[in-house]
Amino acid sequence: MSKTLLLLHGDGIGPEVITQVERVIDVLRVSHGLSLNVESALFGGASIDACGVPISDETIARAKSADAVLMGAVGGPKWANAPRDKRPEMGLLNLRKEMEVFANLRPAICFDALADASSLKRELVAGLDIMFVRELCGGVYFGQPRGIDVLPDGSKRGYDTQVYTTGEIERVAHVAFELARKRKNHVSSLEKSNVMESGLLWRQVVTQIHQEHYSDVVLEHVLADNAAMQIARAPKQFDVLLTDNLFGDVLSDLAAAITGSIGLLPSAALGEKGKPGLYEPIHGSAPDIAGKGLANPLAAILSFEMALRNSLEREDLADLLYTAVIAALNKGARTKDLGGTLNTSQMGDAVIAEL
Ligand code: NAD
Repeated sequence: MSKTLLLLHGDGIGPEVITQVERVIDVLRVSHGLSLNVESALFGGASIDACGVPISDETIARAKSADAVLMGAVGGPKWANAPRDKRPEMGLLNLRKEMEVFANLRPAICFDALADASSLKRELVAGLDIMFVRELCGGVYFGQPRGIDVLPDGSKRGYDTQVYTTGEIERVAHVAFELARKRKNHVSSLEKSNVMESGLLWRQVVTQIHQEHYSDVVLEHVLADNAAMQIARAPKQFDVLLTDNLFGDVLSDLAAAITGSIGLLPSAALGEKGKPGLYEPIHGSAPDIAGKGLANPLAAILSFEMALRNSLEREDLADLLYTAVIAALNKGARTKDLGGTLNTSQMGDAVIAEL
C-alpha cells in the first residue's frame, strides 16, 4: 500500500528547496519503483496570509494521518512583529506538539569533500558523523508558568519553567539507546545536574533506563557546558548525544556550524513507533537569499532521505539517495554557500544525475 507524504513548503526558501525534493521523488517513482502519495498544504506565513493562522486545524489533522510530513521552513520579516500566536514559528511548535514528535534526530555529518569548508581544522572534522537526539516536546519551551509580570515598582520580571517528567525523559532515552545500537554503541547524555533539579532527574532516569535495558551500550554523562567545549575541540569523540530541548537546540546548532554549511543538514522528529515523523532541514527560511536561486537544497533532500529511512519503509532508496548526494559532492557540485556557483535547481540536477 502506498504511503502518504504531506509536504509543507512554508516560506522564504522553503518552497525552493522542497521543489527539488519533489523532482527527486518523481525520479525515484519512475526509475526506482517508489510508490508514494504526495500531498501538500499551506504552512507558516503563507498560511497566515491565506487563512489567518500559521497552521489550520485541517492541516494538523492531515499531518497526523500522513505517514510522514516534510516541511521547508517558516518565518520571515513580514510576520516578525505579529502577536506571538500569529507568528509562523508558533505554527511549527504547535505542529510538533500535536504530532507528539518528542525525539528530534539531528545528524552532524562532515562529508569528506567539504571538510575544508569547516571552521575547524580538516583533521578535527573529516569523517565526523554524530547524531543529536534532542527532546522536542517538553522542557523550558513549553513549561508553565511563563510570562512577563510587572512588579510593584514598575520594573518587570520575565520567567520560563524548565520541567521534565520521568516519562518524557524515558521515551527519548529509549530512542537514543536504540539508535546507538545501530551506530557506534555510545550515548553521551548532556545536562546540568550540578546546578539544575531537572538535570539531576534527567541523569537519574537515563542511568536507570541504561541499567535496565541497554547495558550493552556505553553511556557517559557530560555536563552540557563541557559538551559545548568538547564539540568545538574534538567532536569526533561523540556518537549519539542525548539532551533536552534547550541544550539540544543550542548544541546541535554548534555541531551543525562546524560541519561547513547550514544548507546541508537535515533533521527528523519522531514520536511513538508507527506514528508519522516530521522531517525538516535545520535551516530557516533565509529571507536574505529567498527568490534568488541561491538556496542549497541538500538539507531538504537529505531530510527526505531520513523520511524514506524512518517513516516510509524504503531504506533501500534512502541508501541510494544518500549515495547520490555524496557522489554529487565528490564530483564538485557546490552551491554558493559551499563556495560554488550552482543554483538551487542545478544542485537538484546534480543529485538527480547520480540517481
Ligand atoms: P536561517 O537558517 O534562515 O539563515 C541563516 C543564514 O544561513 C542566512 O545567511 C541564510 O542565507 C543561510 N542559509 C540558510 N539556509 C540556507 C540554504 N539552504 N542554503 C544556503 N544558505 C542558507 O536563519 P535566520 O536568518 O536566523 O532565520 C530566518 C527566518 O527563519 C526567521 O523568521 C526564523 O524564525 C525562521 N526559522 C525557521 C526555522 C524553521 O522553519 N524550522 C528554523 C530556523 C529559523
